[in-house]
Amino acid sequence: MQKARETQLEINLKALHHNFLQLKGKLQPQTLFMAVVKANAYGSDAVAVAKFLEDKADYFAVAYTSEGIELREAGIRKPILVLHPQSVHFEEIIHHCLEPALYSHFVLNAFLKSAQLKKQQHYPVHLKFNTGLNRLGFDPDEAKELARRICENPEIKIRSVFSHLAASEDPNERDFTLRQIAFFSKIRSAILEILPYKPLFHCTNTSGIINYPDAHFDMVRSGIGLYGYGNEARVDQSLKPIATLKTIISQLHTIQPGDTVGYNRAFEAPEPQKIATLPIGHADGLSRRLGNGVGFVTIHGQKAPYVGNVCMDMLMVNVTGITCEEGDEVIVFGENPTAETLAQSTETITYEVLTKISKRIKRVVK
Ligand SMILES: *Cc1c(COP(=O)(O)O)cnc(C)c1O
Repeated sequence: MQKARETQLEINLKALHHNFLQLKGKLQPQTLFMAVVKANAYGSDAVAVAKFLEDKADYFAVAYTSEGIELREAGIRKPILVLHPQSVHFEEIIHHCLEPALYSHFVLNAFLKSAQLKKQQHYPVHLKFNTGLNRLGFDPDEAKELARRICENPEIKIRSVFSHLAASEDPNERDFTLRQIAFFSKIRSAILEILPYKPLFHCTNTSGIINYPDAHFDMVRSGIGLYGYGNEARVDQSLKPIATLKTIISQLHTIQPGDTVGYNRAFEAPEPQKIATLPIGHADGLSRRLGNGVGFVTIHGQKAPYVGNVCMDMLMVNVTGITCEEGDEVIVFGENPTAETLAQSTETITYEVLTKISKRIKRVVK
């Protein structure tokens, strides 16, 4: 593979395919697969990911309307669920054939208005129920009444009914998750009693797919797993990170005992050392908490720890003992260290590490 000559996020479609097949292999053959490509496909490249998965996945999901429009404008034709649309965007949603999640009476009423205005018939919508996350969703007790109400409005049709698990990755919360799933089953029965047609039902995210195989219903929704992370080491082993954040050595300095590195002179050399400056910083989405030895990068397969404070556009690493030159490639995360390693050392989750990678970093699809 060609070496990086600037800071870039490499997206490996082969790894994406591998992860897709791994996850798909955990489903019954008839279960549909919704690929969650919100937040620029977890910081990678939503258009490239969606194009690659278009003939493999059954559905796409994004969080916001603008993300769905971006995919439509790039030529994606598969159905796209917008998980958290705002009512000001409902006409655009219809214009771009995006499918809204309706989670409250406020948004249901607003969407009905837009659908009437735009003279729609049976426009596909997705009903979201709150089974315990207490974030978005109708009250499960309302299921029948809602289904009845929607039947009276020919402008819309329920394409799916869904809910979201609060702690599917946490074995200590198994009882809670099973209760959420039981709630969801009840919602399903109630709705099927009323509707003259059968919508899709879905409630599992990546960890739900893995830990609750009996709760896949008609479709699963996977985000993080597609990108190569599974919220636990055992799952991570079977997946491959699709994104590798690379940079290069901009400059090398040899410093003497007592010399300091970076802002606030946070690092003082106890002995002669070789320091490499890298063109990437906290404005690129790398946590400032990685500084002062918390994080490391890999250069020619060798670990180089961060020295001093991470700057906005640069950071310095200790390359004493590593044979390297200016212009050499540096791995910030990918196979080693992984985004999971960065997440753990900065007390966050891979989701945040991946989605924080700033827009100014070029995405290179391989
Ligand atoms: C983001 C999201 C997902 C994907 O979750 P992963 O843990 O990344 O698989 C699924 N469903 C909903 C409602 C989401 O918001």
